[in-house]
Amino acid sequence: MPKRNIAYKPVDSLKSPRFSGVRTYMRLPHGTGLEKADVAVFGVPFDTGTSFCPGARFGPAAIRDASSILKPYCPLTDVNIVENISVLDYGDIDTVPGYMDDSFVKIEAGMVKICEAGVIPLGMGGDHSITLPLLRGLTKVHGEPVALLHFDAHSDTISDYFGRDYNHGTPFYWAIEEGLIKPEHSIQVGIRGPLYTKDALDYAKNKGLEIITGPQLHDLGLRETIKCARDRINGQPVYVSFDIDFLDAAYAPGTGTPEIGGFTTHQALQLMAGCCVGMNLKGMDLVEVMPAQDNAGITALAGASLMHIFLAQVAKGLE
Ligand code: MN
Ligand code: MN
Repeated sequence: MPKRNIAYKPVDSLKSPRFSGVRTYMRLPHGTGLEKADVAVFGVPFDTGTSFCPGARFGPAAIRDASSILKPYCPLTDVNIVENISVLDYGDIDTVPGYMDDSFVKIEAGMVKICEAGVIPLGMGGDHSITLPLLRGLTKVHGEPVALLHFDAHSDTISDYFGRDYNHGTPFYWAIEEGLIKPEHSIQVGIRGPLYTKDALDYAKNKGLEIITGPQLHDLGLRETIKCARDRINGQPVYVSFDIDFLDAAYAPGTGTPEIGGFTTHQALQLMAGCCVGMNLKGMDLVEVMPAQDNAGITALAGASLMHIFLAQVAKGLE
């Protein structure tokens, strides 16, 4: 029996087959009625910040498509999402293709609207540049910086690319510089891609961020890594940013800058579940799904499923 009055629930797939209907995330209702939502899923179809292979603008559509097979009960976390939280597919934030600054203004404004309604944002990229305006919007409403839990093959803490401040390799440099995150409670996990220089990692470390590299994670194992992340976050309000290239290129070929030596979907699900349970979750984004290079939709399915774990842990918090 539902413990709360849940306004938004997925279409009943025992009455309407999963392959029917207009695609929304997890077959949830599409609308803008934030007042009845606990979580708003939304797309940011923007890839102007891409440095290599573009196409993440089609990520939200691919994730929605893949998500139609997700079901409400999550065995990994032992939670029925729809019995505990009301989740809305809020649609996409409109951007201006080719124009970073104009798009950032729109993305930040969209995030502010969701956060001001007291709703937890769950965004789908788009390339990783979108996380900067999302964090700007979140902290504007929250009133102070948040802890960051960042899964990625890349640190994304370079100061500039091609003489410009913003692209998908720079969001966390600016998040630190603008005081959007608390470095002492933030952690980057899975970092392993080759870099132009070591400076990017040194910058993050010098600013107080903890980095667990890909090789370190392989050595530490899941349990120890989860413990490190939880100790680091230490109950602070936390924002999760998940770049799908955290996964090995074998599990996530559909992304703009794939890296080998990474992690399986099993490991990613366990890490997400273990790091997020019982945390004060302020929001999440899942970025860099690029369907044009995807095989059999496995990257989009991985993205949709990692978002599902986030929803499950928000739901568990309200059980
Ligand atoms: Mn990356
Ligand atoms: Mn990234």
